[in-house]
Amino acid sequence: MKQLAILGSTGSIGVSTLEIVAAHPDKFRIIALSAGKNLELFARQIRQFRPKLAAVADRTDIPRLKELLAGQDLEITGGVEGLCAVATADGVQMVVAAIVGAAGLMPTAAAIRAGRDVALANKETLVTAGHLFMELVARHRVKLHPVDSEHSAVFQSLEGHRNEDIARIILTASGGPFRETSLERLQQVTVADALNHPNWSMGRKITIDSASMMNKGLEVIEARWLFNVPPEKISVNIHPQSIIHSMVEYLDGCVIAQLGTPDMKAPIAYALSYPERVSTGVKPLDLTELSALTFFKPDLDRFPCLGLAYHAMAAGESMPAVMNAANEIAVEAFLDNRIAFLQIPQVIEQTMNRHQAHPLTSIEAVLEADRWGRETARTLCVKGAR
Ligand code: NAD
Ligand code: MG
Repeated sequence: MKQLAILGSTGSIGVSTLEIVAAHPDKFRIIALSAGKNLELFARQIRQFRPKLAAVADRTDIPRLKELLAGQDLEITGGVEGLCAVATADGVQMVVAAIVGAAGLMPTAAAIRAGRDVALANKETLVTAGHLFMELVARHRVKLHPVDSEHSAVFQSLEGHRNEDIARIILTASGGPFRETSLERLQQVTVADALNHPNWSMGRKITIDSASMMNKGLEVIEARWLFNVPPEKISVNIHPQSIIHSMVEYLDGCVIAQLGTPDMKAPIAYALSYPERVSTGVKPLDLTELSALTFFKPDLDRFPCLGLAYHAMAAGESMPAVMNAANEIAVEAFLDNRIAFLQIPQVIEQTMNRHQAHPLTSIEAVLEADRWGRETARTLCVKGAR
């Protein structure tokens, strides 16, 4: 029986994780949960899974959650300390890090420091503070299992192989809803167009990141840290069918890929149960039903965010944290209809241009760079308003 805590249980990854837990009550037990704003769903999850501890991101939501859970026997807390308490609760063996954005950093770091294994969905953690997190993981000898489907595919394709034999990691990308949209048309696309992802159902922020291809940029940086591979050995292929979830090419020319129906329950379950496999209800893959698997090079003119991410990774130090912060602010502004879709990369690039990269030696310093990136991007979003 593996005892779990979930950070971000009401999100897309959190809900899928709980579906797997519900399907395997003999294998997984929920000890602690945390959530942001959706208190009604959170209260329903708590009634169903009966954690000992629950935390809401905003402490002012504690009374309302207590009201919704009247008669329920558990401790309710909140704020960053509350999220860290969930991540380090007694008896928790593995923490599912499924908060979106840089808000996931502190509780994920707390989990590792307390010796908990981590199933990592929150890619922003490794993007902003990859070297610090990988050091923490090594120092505390915890396991870090990727949840992101591409990284789960690479993790699976690496099993039984040596890292020094890797020639290249090839991350696949669906290309999102605008894969074939012209630059001219991209100037007018709406929030609804951008949220209409062809293959994956995900939270709003990552869905916009997929439309801009910043998601793939973040994933390249995530792969760089997770697998300790230099940036020049990580490439991206557009693969519209999202059947091959990523590949590893070895020195001898052999390529190992992982395939499956696109459903996050598969990589989540593998992160939870590794090295075992458990049933997930994911539709089995029937390759004869597919007419073709196709692959293209990404178009950096239409999707400048991918180039910005490679640039931030090359600059290193505080630059990826600043890029990530600017992206979070620009995506929020786009979702609020304050800036146009193509202004997302402009806000990020201008923020990065104003930043002098400097070394980051603590999570606090990462959060400081994050704050600087947010403030700078915010002023640019106001200036860039349509
Ligand atoms: P989501 O928006 O659906 O859910 C986010 C969760 O975090 C919710 O429970 C929300 O209440 C909580 N949250 C939001 N802001 C918070 C804050 N400031 N403090 C504390 N809690 C907060 O997001 P998601 O799509 O589930 O993605 C979660 C993470 O997983 C992201 O980092 C994303 O990039 C990554 N990821 C998601 C998918 C996917 O299919 N959804 C795939 C790969 C990776
Ligand atoms: Mg992914």
